[in-house]
Formats: sequence, structure tokens, C-alpha cells
Amino acid sequence: MKIDVVSIFPEYLAGLQLSLIGKAVDQGVLDLNVHDLRDFTFDRHSTVDDSPYGGGAGMVMKAEPWALALEHILGGGSPGAASVEQTVGADTGDEEPAAAGRPILIVPSPAGPVFNQRIAEELSVADHLVFACGRYEGIDQRVIDWSGEHFDLRPMSIGDYVLNGGEVASMVMIEAVSRLIPGVIGNPESLTEESHEDGLLEYPIYTKPASWRDRDVPEILLSGNHGAIARWRRDRRLERTADVRPDLLAGLDGLDKHDRAILE
Ligand code: SAM
Repeated sequence: MKIDVVSIFPEYLAGLQLSLIGKAVDQGVLDLNVHDLRDFTFDRHSTVDDSPYGGGAGMVMKAEPWALALEHILGGGSPGAASVEQTVGADTGDEEPAAAGRPILIVPSPAGPVFNQRIAEELSVADHLVFACGRYEGIDQRVIDWSGEHFDLRPMSIGDYVLNGGEVASMVMIEAVSRLIPGVIGNPESLTEESHEDGLLEYPIYTKPASWRDRDVPEILLSGNHGAIARWRRDRRLERTADVRPDLLAGLDGLDKHDRAILE
């Protein structure tokens, strides 16, 4: 998968060089490029923002630098701009248009639909994701509308709160999506039974020692009885979900009699 991120703080994305995502980039599983929006400006101050039409507090990100950056990513960008991107990890060379279909442009915004595991799964099979990290009050709506002619446009919130910029939101989504790509997580089995994978939260987990500060691991987990352990774990998932996120239960189907008894 190819991932492009545009930001006025490309250094923010350096964390993606670490751990499993960094390894996936090193191994060529992910082709991750971070672009500095200011490199698509031509004035002395590399201006990316201006005051809002209609008045009000804060500044708005100007349309033109965004259009130039996005055109560059599409492969039709301004001459010379190809030298400005910062590649995280692997050396990927010049930009190329997406192999198949239109790239998906994710515009982090608290005013977007809320990102979740289903969306992460959907995005994990895409060829090319582009993240447009807003700052200030956000990005001029006209360039967002314009981008819908060239990209599969996906405004996306990571939750009902307001951050200072789209970088952290993009990193959240990149991490959630990337770990679903085959080859990013060493053991793909660790992706099953995870919270939100099938609508339930994960069961409580334990490791050695079996007794710690007078607290014992539930005995069933030491029994070696795999069927009983699986049942115990499902029961705890049901209980925890009902307790912490009862809203998730509405979307569950395939509950058997035992499941329903646990939830009563
Ligand atoms: N004026 C905007 C509003 O009220 O909807 C908020 C702008 S916010 C201060 C600046 C940038 O942070 C946004 O353009 C977006 O990129 C990012 N951002 C803030 N909260 C976010 C959230 N919950 N999810 C995704 N991105 C967010």
C-alpha cells in the first residue's frame, strides 16, 4: 500500500518510523511518504493560511498550496516539487499515480464521520491512501470539494473532541489500517479476537507469574482445557462489552442461548 501524508509539521509523522509500521516501511510492505505543505508555496514566508471570509476567530488553510500538493501526489504536480518530499523509511523515488482506481483522500476533521475498525478494514485493502492534515480552523472548503473530482474523498473524525491538527489523527488511522495489512503484524492470529474485530471487546489477559501480589490468574486459564478457556473468554468479552460499551451490543448478531444468558 502507498500512503502519502501532507502536513505543515512533517516531523510529527516521524513516529511512523518506529516499531511495526517502521519495519513494514523498511521491508517495502508500506510505501510511506510525508510531504511538507509549505514546499508548495511560493512566497517569502511560505504562507499556508489566511483570515476567514465572513470574519471569526482563527485562520483558514489556503486552497492553492493544498491543490498543488495533492496534484503532485496525483502525479501531475508542479515542476520541481518532487524534490521536496520527505520519505519516511524507504526510498520510494518519484510519485506515481495510484495503480488502480482513484486514491482515497482522508481529510481528518472533527466534523467528519467517526473512524472505526470497520472503516480501518475497508481502507486496509486500498492501493493508495492520502492524508491531508489540517491545522488552524481547517482547510478552505473549495479545495476539499475540488479534491473530490480526483480522489475518493473521505472526511474522517477520530472522535468527538477537537485536536490542534490532523497529524495525530492521521497517525491513529495509519496505524489502525496498516496493522491489518498482511505482513505488518508478525503473527496474523493476534488480529483475531481483538476488541472491535467482531463487535465485542477483548477478554481480560494475563501473563506470568500465576500469582502476583495475592492476585491469582483465573484458574480456568491454567487448566489446559481449550474449549473451556474459549467459552470463558467469550463470556468475559460479552460481560465487558455489556458493562463498558453497551452501545456495541445492538450491532451484534449470531448470539446463542448461552451468550444471551450471560448478557441477562
Ligand atoms: N474548526 C474545526 C471544527 O470546528 O470542526 C476544527 C479545526 S482543528 C482545531 C484543526 C485540525 O485538527 C482539523 O482541520 C483536523 O485536521 C484536525 N482535527 C481536530 N480534531 C479532530 C478529530 N476529532 N478528528 C480528526 N481530525 C481532527
